[in-house]
Amino acid sequence: MIVEQVWTGNAYRNFNYLVACPETGDALAIDPLDFTKCLDVAQERGWTITQVLNTHEHGDHTGGNKGIVTATGAKIIAHHNAGGRIPNMDRGVGAGDVIKVGKTVELECLDTPGHTMCHICLLSHTDQPALFSGDTLFNAGAGNCHHGGHPEELYETFSTQLDRLGENTLLYPGHDYLANNLAFTLDREPDNQVAREMLDRYRDQDPNDALVTTLAQEREMNTFFRLDSPGVIARLQEEFPDIGDQPSPKEVFLKLRELRNRW
Ligand SMILES: [Zn+2]
Repeated sequence: MIVEQVWTGNAYRNFNYLVACPETGDALAIDPLDFTKCLDVAQERGWTITQVLNTHEHGDHTGGNKGIVTATGAKIIAHHNAGGRIPNMDRGVGAGDVIKVGKTVELECLDTPGHTMCHICLLSHTDQPALFSGDTLFNAGAGNCHHGGHPEELYETFSTQLDRLGENTLLYPGHDYLANNLAFTLDREPDNQVAREMLDRYRDQDPNDALVTTLAQEREMNTFFRLDSPGVIARLQEEFPDIGDQPSPKEVFLKLRELRNRW
C-alpha cells in the first residue's frame, strides 16, 4: 500500500489522500476536494484513480467528486446512509465492509458517527495499520459536531472504536489542525511536555510534508484521549464545579468538546 497525502493549501486546511496498490497502480482517492492536484499526483506516479471514498457528506470532502469522475470514471463510495446527501454514489458501505484497491490493498470500513451521522473511517489491513479518519479524529484533536453531528455519538465512537486501535496505527486525518489543537491541549493540560515539545517543533511545519503521528503519540497529546488525566480533570473542575471529584470519561469528553467549541 502506498499513501500520498495531498495538501490542498485551502483556507479549511484539507488533506486529500491517494491510496495505491503498488502492483497494479490502481488508486483510491479519499475526499479529493482538490481534484486537479489529485489527478496530477496520480499521473506523476503512473496511477489510475478507480474509486473515490468520501468519509462524510460535507462539501469540503465531496466537492471534487465530479472532477475526478469526469476525468477517470471512478466509482463513488460513501456511508450507506449518505445517498441523499452525496450525489451519484455507486456504493454504500457500513461497518466491516472492505474496500479493495488493486490486488494488494484492503481497507476496512469503520462506521464512526459523531462529526456527522454518516461518517466512515478506513483502517488498512497492513502490518502497520493506517487510519484514514476524515473529520472524526485529528492530530491532537477531535471533530466538531456543529453540522449534523452529536457529541454523545462522537464519544461512543472514541470509546468503543478509536480507543481500541493499536499503538502503532498511523493517523491520516482530513485536515491539518495540528498546531491549533496542540495549543488547546496545553490550555487544558499546561504541564503536558509531549504536547509542548511537539508544538515547538511543528508549529510552522510545511503541510506538504506534514508529520504523521501514531495512535501512541495521540494518546499522549490529544486531550480527547486523555479523559483520565488528573491534570485535565482538575482544570475542568475549576470551570465546572458540578462535575465532582470523579467525573465519568463521557462527562469529561463532553465538557472538553463544549470548551473546544468556544475556545
Ligand atoms: Zn466535515
